[in-house]
Amino acid sequence: MIETKSPLQKVLFREKTYFIKRDDLLDNHFSGNKARKFHYYLNYNFKNISKIISHGSSQSNAMYSLSVLAKIKNIEFIYYVDHIALFLKQNPHGNYKYALQNGMKIIEGDLKKIVDEDELFIPEGGHFKEAEVGIKILANELKEFDCDIFLPSGTGTTALYLQKHLKNRVFTCACVGDVKYLKKQFLELESDERLHPNILTLDKKYHFGKLYREFFEIWVELKRETNIEFDFLYDPLGWMNVIKHHNLFNNDLIYLHQGGIIGNESMSLRYKRKFSENSRK
Ligand SMILES: *Cc1c(COP(=O)(O)O)cnc(C)c1O
Repeated sequence: MIETKSPLQKVLFREKTYFIKRDDLLDNHFSGNKARKFHYYLNYNFKNISKIISHGSSQSNAMYSLSVLAKIKNIEFIYYVDHIALFLKQNPHGNYKYALQNGMKIIEGDLKKIVDEDELFIPEGGHFKEAEVGIKILANELKEFDCDIFLPSGTGTTALYLQKHLKNRVFTCACVGDVKYLKKQFLELESDERLHPNILTLDKKYHFGKLYREFFEIWVELKRETNIEFDFLYDPLGWMNVIKHHNLFNNDLIYLHQGGIIGNESMSLRYKRKFSENSRK
């Protein structure tokens, strides 16, 4: 299951052909780019480890994936968040709900700074060197194709290690923070800038996690035309960049679907409340 490679699917979107690397289909529970980033820990010896410790937002995809990993390994998972919204506490849904079902213990408050010997600390969003192992496996699945590759970035970890292990040109965009932030993230993991991916931009500034009509519209259009459910947080901005910069790609384009579908549960609730009246076709 978890070890198998993901399929490549040809689709037509706005009358152009794309190849979608379906990492969303890697596994029912341990999928998307968090499965790649945490792959290192699938074969890790947890003999002396009793807990995984991490932190981040209360709806993070990384949080859910770590809850799956802890469950597979039969160890505790402790997750620190700044704050859990009252609505979420009273109506658990999305990544939060399923991570709790997997046994996650969530703590509101500051991350405890000292990690004990029997605890494994995983940085927010999986921005760490250990991610390279799983992303290299993904790179090996892609290197036979003479294509450019696009994927939207959060911490930039996936894009960086893909470019490091591929001769193909890797393009990305900054969904969290701006270009400066993303470059800094790249530099933390790799000081040689020649190994960094190409960053594409749009004219308008979008804030991570906010709702935008154009995001919802392109998401609906993608679903209708390709029959694939993309993620709400990263993929709309990703596809808007692909469309805008289409002339840059001189080969076929592989778009990496990085999962995140469970996270869509909370985002689609928010979007439907806000926009669905006028968007129904
Ligand atoms: C985490 C995540 C990203 C961002 O990955 P980075 O390696 O942090 O850039 C993109 N898409 C989805 C669906 C994710 O879950």
